[in-house]
Amino acid sequence: MKKEILSIVVPCYNESETTESSFRILQQLCNSWKEKTLIADYELLFVNDGSTDDTFDILKKIYNKNKNVSIVNLRKNSGFQAALTAGLFESTGDIVVSIDADLQDDPEKIEEMIQKYHEGFEMVLGIRKDRSTDTFFKRLFAETYYKILRKIGVKSVYNHGDFRLLSRGIIDDLKKFPERVRYLRSLIFEIEPRYACVYYARTKRKFGQSKFTFSKSLSLAIDGVTSFTAQPIRLLSVLGFFMFILSIVCTVIVFFGKFYWHLGIPGWASLALIVLFFGGIQNLSLGVVGEYVSKIYIENKARPLYLVRDIYTHGK
Ligand code: UDP
Ligand code: MG
Repeated sequence: MKKEILSIVVPCYNESETTESSFRILQQLCNSWKEKTLIADYELLFVNDGSTDDTFDILKKIYNKNKNVSIVNLRKNSGFQAALTAGLFESTGDIVVSIDADLQDDPEKIEEMIQKYHEGFEMVLGIRKDRSTDTFFKRLFAETYYKILRKIGVKSVYNHGDFRLLSRGIIDDLKKFPERVRYLRSLIFEIEPRYACVYYARTKRKFGQSKFTFSKSLSLAIDGVTSFTAQPIRLLSVLGFFMFILSIVCTVIVFFGKFYWHLGIPGWASLALIVLFFGGIQNLSLGVVGEYVSKIYIENKARPLYLVRDIYTHGK
């Protein structure tokens, strides 16, 4: 059987506490897989996503001592999805695994991913068994979000983040997607519906802090919806239609109440409530439409997704 070169892509943003130890763990694992002839060779590709601490210096030291290490040094912080894309696009292996720098996702499971690849799957997704290491709030947010995604028809796999194996063929196809706003964990299904899964327990972050603030997570979540479906706009149209019918019904009731049934129509309180209610709906609708308009704006400018300052590679 032909043996492949494995690339492991690791996006790093201010990961000075984790980089060295994560590198050692990955190197050890890759060497053991090479010895077992599971792979022909490997490349550990670190993407420095505009870190402001000394992540890059640490990476360079590692690079200078290890021929299997490459670095893609981005000009500025471009965000996790862009950094990940940079890593996938610049990687050279036949099979490419992406994993977070903190190794919260179990790197030992990469072996199982490669086995699934040999069974014929070009896409193998790492699925976390549970979310016990997340805070209650993050768990609730994630569960509700995945339910909404499913309801509005965005393909996603529950509890799959960005720990996955992709074949070179899939990455070549991924390059054909020009969009700036990227939500890779759903975008991959636009390429290939067939996949295998590998299950693992996600550990707590050992060093450093999560780089995902609530606003970053929320922005990723909104991208997940608005990059794949215009369902929210359609729902708003439906909502608007029912609101319109409701307002006609209310007008008729008020008209008959006043002129035929001679009822005293109550005053400003109900009026204020209605104004508030419709005002709220209108603002929400504008916001949702605005989300899509802003996506058109961003995509239309067609700015590069990331800019590389330099690439360090031992030329494999
Ligand atoms: N990351 C990145 N750019 C960013 C934010 C995060 O490359 O702007 C990387 C980070 O270094 C890590 C991965 O994305 O390798 C996931 O981040 P983190 O572990 O903080 O996320 P969490 O596990 O808390 O969801
Ligand atoms: Mg993490």
